[in-house]
Amino acid sequence: MDEASAAKEAAASANSAAPTIFDKIIAKEIPSTIVYEDEKVLAFRDVNPQAPVHILLIPKARDGLTQLSKAEFRHSEILGDLLYTAKLVAEKEGLKDGFRVVINDGLDGCQSVYHLHLHLLGGRQLKWPPG
Ligand code: C5P
Repeated sequence: MDEASAAKEAAASANSAAPTIFDKIIAKEIPSTIVYEDEKVLAFRDVNPQAPVHILLIPKARDGLTQLSKAEFRHSEILGDLLYTAKLVAEKEGLKDGFRVVINDGLDGCQSVYHLHLHLLGGRQLKWPPG
């Protein structure tokens, strides 16, 4: 299956109840390289890095937050926590010349895992606009 078809399938099956691969990462049932963890946020290296530093930051409790477009007011705090943690992790990774934070949303955004996550990318000159 090509990337576009996989994204379409993931978007079609997205709902707040279905578990995702990230639940297994949170439960440590599958291995990941964790770079930061607290009671609310987990950050680990992306298995398919698009830059020398490519880290995913996720809420440990999904709480219906499958994607940014499904966010409700109650999610404001965790959204802020994720963004602030991205800054802390960027510092920890030594990204002193800058970095990028991305949230892919839905089909057009190429989201493939329906558990909200921030991509933290850095360690090289990134281009703009993205593809
Ligand atoms: O934004 P999107 O939903 O496409 O991002 C999902 C990310 O999760 C991908 O970058 C993919 O490489 C990553 N992933 C991972 N470990 C897994 C499964 C997916 O790092 N076991």
